[in-house]
Amino acid sequence: MRQKTNQNGSKNVSGRAGSSKNNGKAQESPLEKFFVDQLKDIYYAEQQLLKAIPKMREAATTEELEDAFENHLQQTERHVKRLEKVFKMIQQEPEGEKCEAMDGLVREAQTIISETEEDTMTRDAALIIAAQKVEHYEIATYGGLVQLALTMGLDRAADILEKTLVEEEDTDQQLTFIAEGYINVEAENEGGYSWEKQQQTEQNVNA
Ligand code: FE
Ligand code: FE
Repeated sequence: MRQKTNQNGSKNVSGRAGSSKNNGKAQESPLEKFFVDQLKDIYYAEQQLLKAIPKMREAATTEELEDAFENHLQQTERHVKRLEKVFKMIQQEPEGEKCEAMDGLVREAQTIISETEEDTMTRDAALIIAAQKVEHYEIATYGGLVQLALTMGLDRAADILEKTLVEEEDTDQQLTFIAEGYINVEAENEGGYSWEKQQQTEQNVNA
């Protein structure tokens, strides 16, 4: 594969450009730095989820969804602990870094709660999709982290991250299963569609 050259037409050979202060520590490679940044991103995200999932659980209409959120809350506590283990393995202090994407997804879930009526299936159908967006963000991040860890020879860290990845994937599938079980169908029964009403009006006018 061809490597892109920088503006001077030369390749960044050393990969060590920039600050030379290292506080007695070996300097991070650019890939290592990216890996650590992603760890901080998902560490922050998981912590935000520890606050958001209980609200989603309380807002849920059905017991199925409530249980799913409860289970995933417990898993999320383990996700945080696993990340702390990985930070330790690479001699880093566990630290979060504000993740705008996760903040946005959490806000979206909050909006759903405020814009849907309590005790409706429509709320659950919408909450499931909001939760799945969160899972997909996590799946993308953990999937990438596992591969980077393997690339960098951090096999133990890759194993740990993979455990979380599998749980995120299982949660995503479980949410699909719950939605398709009866929630989506019952949500549909909560009201007709505006486009159908529109058609009826048109038929009445034309009759
Ligand atoms: Fe997680
Ligand atoms: Fe998750």
